[in-house]
Amino acid sequence: MTTATQTKQTKQFATQAVRTAVERSQYGENSEALYLTSGFVSSNAQTLARRFAEQEEYTYARYENPTVKSFEKRLAALEGTEGAIACSSGMAAILMLCFGLLKAGDHIVCSRSIFGSSIKLIGTDFAKFGVSSTFVSLTSLDEWKNAIQPNTKLLFVETPSNPLTEIGDISALAELAHKHQALLVVDNSFCSPAIQRPAEFGADIILHSGTKFLDGQGRVLAGALCCSQELIQKNFEPVLRSGGMCLSAFDAWVVLKGIETLKIRAQAQSEQALIVAQWLEKHPHVEKVYYPGLKSHPQHELAMKQQNSIGGNVVSFVVKGESAEQARANAWAVVDNTQICSIASNLGDTKTIITHPATTSHGRLSDELKQKTGIVQGLLRLSVGLEDVEDIIADIERGLALINKAA
Ligand SMILES: *Cc1c(COP(=O)(O)O)cnc(C)c1O
Repeated sequence: MTTATQTKQTKQFATQAVRTAVERSQYGENSEALYLTSGFVSSNAQTLARRFAEQEEYTYARYENPTVKSFEKRLAALEGTEGAIACSSGMAAILMLCFGLLKAGDHIVCSRSIFGSSIKLIGTDFAKFGVSSTFVSLTSLDEWKNAIQPNTKLLFVETPSNPLTEIGDISALAELAHKHQALLVVDNSFCSPAIQRPAEFGADIILHSGTKFLDGQGRVLAGALCCSQELIQKNFEPVLRSGGMCLSAFDAWVVLKGIETLKIRAQAQSEQALIVAQWLEKHPHVEKVYYPGLKSHPQHELAMKQQNSIGGNVVSFVVKGESAEQARANAWAVVDNTQICSIASNLGDTKTIITHPATTSHGRLSDELKQKTGIVQGLLRLSVGLEDVEDIIADIERGLALINKAA
């Protein structure tokens, strides 16, 4: 038995992040309750029959769970969408998106600079079911326009791009999608709603890997789609109910609590990222820095407009080297001489993470494609965390300082 929602309607982001969808049990706990149960009991046969028929009350956790529901309501409030539907990971959200909206013969236009597994799922796996796709440059609106076909149902974009932080113009892409009766999907995992709220710029569906900024502390996998109630009820809920990629109550609870500190984490990590980016820009062994918060970023103004004047926590930079081989050796020296940074491929965590994209996340690209798309051997990506920024800088400097000696 739960009492009514305790939240007062308010438009303030931080308040919503802490107070939305606190469903208290009869014990009146202050923190959100964790309903760790696979099923729900009815008082008699008729009640259970009615619950199944009306699908309005809790019956089975693959369909709905109160803790998962709280997470969905809170995320929807922050993204400014009518609703949200949670699932087990960011990739499961893309699966739910495509199963829910597409059939054989449909077509997707997709930015070329999206998460690697998303490219595989959309470009290869869905092709098996007769869904075709065209991959285009994130920043060339002409390429998007030319790729649209009469059967195009979705435009799929991620902005800023990973790892080069290119910015897609959400308003322009939404307008283009709507002109052709297609929907615009924005994967907002990189920013979170604390930095960017794509619905305000016309996006129809906002996709999340809750694994990243929403949890922010590297504990669980989670995913979600934020959109209209109509899409949730007609297109996505049926897929989730039969597909079974539901979010566990425990993981929902972890992310729900993570969201309470989202705004201050996003602000603090972005401030630190800007300091690191400005320091890197002046470094003699660094060839180039990619960060939307830098004035030198070619789309700085668009980024600041879309991202609430915040750069985000991901900074990428190219370490100098006479040849590709030397650049790779230098980049690896930076990675290997860190003592604080985690050597991993995740992002959005409170712990700073360093990645060498050319041999990890983008390792499968051909050498030619790597060169063409800027994934050069000297490139490193930092997901800046909450350690003291002086320590993060010293950690990177340790390896950079060795470069001249090696040359
Ligand atoms: C990590 C990530 C995903 C996939 O999310 P999982 O939770 O790992 O399944 C999708 N999109 C982006 C932008 C990501 O960073």
